[in-house]
Amino acid sequence: MSVSEILFIVAGLLVGLSFLNGMFLFLIPFAVVAFVLAWMNRPRLAGPGASTATLPVITLKNRATGTTPVVAPDLRSEFRNGNGMANEPEAALKVSQVWARANADINRAMMDLLLALKGIVPNVNSALVFSQRNAKEWGVRNYVNDKEVSVNPSTVITETSGLLSQLFRSGVDRLLEGDLPGCKSLQYYVDNTPIKSVVAVPLIDHGSGVRVGALILDSVCPNAFNNATARALTYVAGAISMLDYKGFYSAQKHIALQQYSGLYNYLRKFFKTMSVNDIYKEIINYVRANMAYDRLTIMAMDKDKDSGRVIHCDGVDADQFVNKRFTLSDKGIFVLSIMRNRPMERSFLPGFKDYLPRLNDSEKRNLNLRQIFVMPIAAEHDAATADIAICLESSSSLPYNDHEKELLKAFASVAGFAYDRACKFEMGREQAMRDGHTGLINKKTLFEKLRAEKSRADRGKYSIGVLMMDIDHFKSVNDTYGHPIGDVVIKGIADTISKEIRSDIDIVARFGGEEFVVGLIETDANGMVETAERIRKAVQKLSFDIHQAEPLRVTVSIGAFLLQPNFNGDLQKAVNNADQALYRAKEGGRNQVVQFQTAEPEPATV
Ligand code: GH3
Ligand code: MG
Ligand code: MG
Repeated sequence: MSVSEILFIVAGLLVGLSFLNGMFLFLIPFAVVAFVLAWMNRPRLAGPGASTATLPVITLKNRATGTTPVVAPDLRSEFRNGNGMANEPEAALKVSQVWARANADINRAMMDLLLALKGIVPNVNSALVFSQRNAKEWGVRNYVNDKEVSVNPSTVITETSGLLSQLFRSGVDRLLEGDLPGCKSLQYYVDNTPIKSVVAVPLIDHGSGVRVGALILDSVCPNAFNNATARALTYVAGAISMLDYKGFYSAQKHIALQQYSGLYNYLRKFFKTMSVNDIYKEIINYVRANMAYDRLTIMAMDKDKDSGRVIHCDGVDADQFVNKRFTLSDKGIFVLSIMRNRPMERSFLPGFKDYLPRLNDSEKRNLNLRQIFVMPIAAEHDAATADIAICLESSSSLPYNDHEKELLKAFASVAGFAYDRACKFEMGREQAMRDGHTGLINKKTLFEKLRAEKSRADRGKYSIGVLMMDIDHFKSVNDTYGHPIGDVVIKGIADTISKEIRSDIDIVARFGGEEFVVGLIETDANGMVETAERIRKAVQKLSFDIHQAEPLRVTVSIGAFLLQPNFNGDLQKAVNNADQALYRAKEGGRNQVVQFQTAEPEPATV
């Protein structure tokens, strides 16, 4: 019994006595004094002007505290991490760090509020915050209580479990009990603490108005709390909800900032490269670092074609997609997205039996991949067909959310711009390197390539065969049949030469009007001459249909020079030597191969 209660009883007795018998009227002043003292000692909530001297002091010795890291799961899911997925993105780690820090900050402030409540409100045994674990369960988040009794931090209450569950229901704004049969009805005590009073209010989320938790004080004293305590608790609950809300939004802002600055980093990387292949690489890097998935497939259209190929695939069953080709008549969801330049998404319930083809119907089916999100990348934003598609799949029950989709969309537009720029650059460079009519490389490129091959050959100690060829009596072809027919002949010979050499090793260039140079990599004199002969014979066999009685036939003369590792001259000299041999082939009667010879004054005819 408190001092004020005793004083109130004494004052009451004095008044009673004085009214019972007139001779005790002198006791009235004493009764007044007792009332005043009782009033001054009444239990109060701290407020402006409240005397701190009367507050009970909590020392470390008799205090136990605890926190359970909880962030409302619906908020957390906005920034998915890759827990258990094939790809755990590096960005998810940063997200969890930001969350952990925000959680720690919120918990610290919440603990301070609970300590203050326990200090200010008299006779409090435990002060606790419960928060939502999922739609149907609340658990202990933070608590402060006396050391002698222990709170079970893993307590979970549901909509149907006892006294506190009332706070789940809308319409119940407070719980105020002063005569409980013990702590059983509160569930969160390990020991059999004889709890008599409890006051609790719900925590309402500032954004949604949803009941996300509860603030609770209890006491072993009967009727320890009153309406004023409940009202004060409602204000504190408002502050706690605001704390949670602000904490969440500042973390969210922080994460968004990180994600957009990550995007900016890629913008800078993209600005530094003009290579289409590097852009593919950066797209793969970005998605791997930022998106959680079980399988990632990146597809790209071939330039000027209605087909394309998978340029990257990792994760579950990736092998079957690696390097796979597709055409726009394949009706899988990945192909549709690229064909229509539109993001596509599908979400399947657990246990679904239907399968949606990704590329086409012949692929291996994996029914565990329940979420699909495809983001197309187009060189031009409003193009009818996209150039690249980022295809994400996961076995999670959660579909890819708006935040993730928006982020990938922002990335796609940055990547699309960079891709367009790189394509145009590569196309321009390609055009500058080649002759438009035959598609062969030009003279400038020939010397660049020969230079690279020469230094490789010097290191590897092998020779390069240089062939210079010229069409025989070509002037008369032009004069007889016209320039356009002459052009057809030049193209036909260019194609024939290309067919007779190793396309991925040897070099062939249009050196001038009707002259071609071939570089045969890693060959000897015999090999060089054999190849030259093969080309000469193949040209001889060519016939051009010119809508006359006889088809048109032409021949070439070829000069050959073996460029050996010890050759002391530049590449121009090597080509000149081949040209000199060509001159001898012309002199020798044309339609023949002549090898350059330094020793012999006369040309050696093969
Ligand atoms: P030769 O056997 O001695 O080589 O006799 P030729 O008539 O072929 O003589 P030359 O190699 O000097 O002839 C070059 C001719 O090729 C001159 C030019 O009219 C023709 N020519 C050069 N470039 C082109 C071209 O792009 N198209 C066409 N149709 N003709 C070309
Ligand atoms: Mg010529
Ligand atoms: Mg000629």
